[in-house]
Amino acid sequence: MLWNSKMEYLFDGVREFSTRDFLEYKNLFKKLGREQAPHTLFIGCSDSRIVPNLITKTLPGELFVIRNIANIVPYYRQSEEYLATTSAIEYAVKVLKVENILVCGHSNCGGCKALFLDKEQTAEIPHTQKWLELASRVKQKIESEAITDEIEREWKTEQLNVVEQMNHLITYPYIKEKYRNKEINILGWYYHIETGAVFNYQAEEKRFIKIN
Ligand SMILES: [Zn+2]
Repeated sequence: MLWNSKMEYLFDGVREFSTRDFLEYKNLFKKLGREQAPHTLFIGCSDSRIVPNLITKTLPGELFVIRNIANIVPYYRQSEEYLATTSAIEYAVKVLKVENILVCGHSNCGGCKALFLDKEQTAEIPHTQKWLELASRVKQKIESEAITDEIEREWKTEQLNVVEQMNHLITYPYIKEKYRNKEINILGWYYHIETGAVFNYQAEEKRFIKIN
């Protein structure tokens, strides 16, 4: 493999972290060294522009994070397959006993865009294509609305996808029970990249409202 400038950049970053930034949080890391007690499970997109701790101003140890394409929550099922997202949800809720689950979508989401590509256009990415079937209801709903404005369609798709994935959480029997007993909160956010604005889903009004 060829050594490239970005690798050098990453190694330099580690050097700088361990000699400077780490010292600032030394006591926190010492405390966290043997245990974690995150209060929130953050389910976000793998997109490089989404940085959960940055947008929530949280410290190491606070968020248990799952990231995948288009911040998707698969429907609950029992399977002999290796289920990354499902096992992380299970661990966060049953073992770490998080108080909140936060599904965070974002603007300009490539995963949400790919929902509208046909099979030929996504032939090179068969696993991504399959994964996005978990948002097929969003696609159906958006297509039934026949929105002509592209930006509007993008926003609506990304926001509707957050709500859809929040609903998928309720298919997990142990989440459903905790949610009914008010032992866990389920939140939906929409993050707008260019402006840094974060919108919170208000279930009563069925819309996203900017957090001020
Ligand atoms: Zn995305």
